[in-house]
Amino acid sequence: MMKSAPTVAFFDFAGCEGCQLTVLDALQTHPDLLSAIEIVEFREAMSEKADSYDVAFVEGSCTRESDETRLRRIRDQATIVVALGACAHTGGVNAMRNDHEIDNLKRVVYADAFDHFEAHQTRPISEVIRIDAFLPGCPIDREEFIRAVKALCLGRMPVIPEVPVCMECKLSENACLLQQGKPCLGPITRAGCGALCPSLGVGCEGCRGMIPNPNLEALETIFSQKRCSPRELRSMLSLFLTHPLQSEEVTAYESS
Ligand code: SF4
Ligand code: SF4
Ligand code: SF4
Repeated sequence: MMKSAPTVAFFDFAGCEGCQLTVLDALQTHPDLLSAIEIVEFREAMSEKADSYDVAFVEGSCTRESDETRLRRIRDQATIVVALGACAHTGGVNAMRNDHEIDNLKRVVYADAFDHFEAHQTRPISEVIRIDAFLPGCPIDREEFIRAVKALCLGRMPVIPEVPVCMECKLSENACLLQQGKPCLGPITRAGCGALCPSLGVGCEGCRGMIPNPNLEALETIFSQKRCSPRELRSMLSLFLTHPLQSEEVTAYESS
């Protein structure tokens, strides 16, 4: 079991910092956690720095060569590294650029100054360093973060669901959006958010990443049966799942 007050640090790479804000929010509503852990580095909340920590939560994806050096240093200085949120876990929305030629994108964004900025393909941090756990979602789920910290304090790894969002959606007794001809990625997306979006009448966009062995061919078939076009499916998949679909993690699906 980990010592009584594990030291915890937070780091950010390419992302909107919404996951760190969720952490701050969680700590405000669960102040008891602050006596169970010792936060030693957290740029959004304090100016102190640390050169070793029991747990490093890393938000954001790796988008520059210089990120790799920093990630390796964090790995060397941490006992446990946790990818915090979709950007760190799967590359997140940042990976949409992987479908395009990076220099062209840099010209669009930075115009004549495009050469001044370093940028390469977006990668989840697990492609640069070994991670011990991840907390999915964009942003992370506040309660899931609290449970994860409690588990880590007890020397356990966080338990993240591997069932699809449809499972939680059915338990919530929602009318299925796909059955109504509305696009939804619930069948292939990792649960744990309580089917947040379908419960509000909005199709799941896959922010928590894919379940193991997602059946994308079946999803494409269902989409076409429900008059959702293959284009709609590809568009939805590209928001959060560009990198997993391009990686070896999923090889069964080829968008036409
Ligand atoms: S996962 Fe979403 S909320 Fe978290 S840093 Fe990335 S874009 Fe922001
Ligand atoms: S609305 Fe989406 S998440 Fe809910 S059951 Fe239908 S496909 Fe699954
Ligand atoms: S329903 Fe889908 S997009 Fe919405 S929060 Fe859950 S996993 Fe993310």
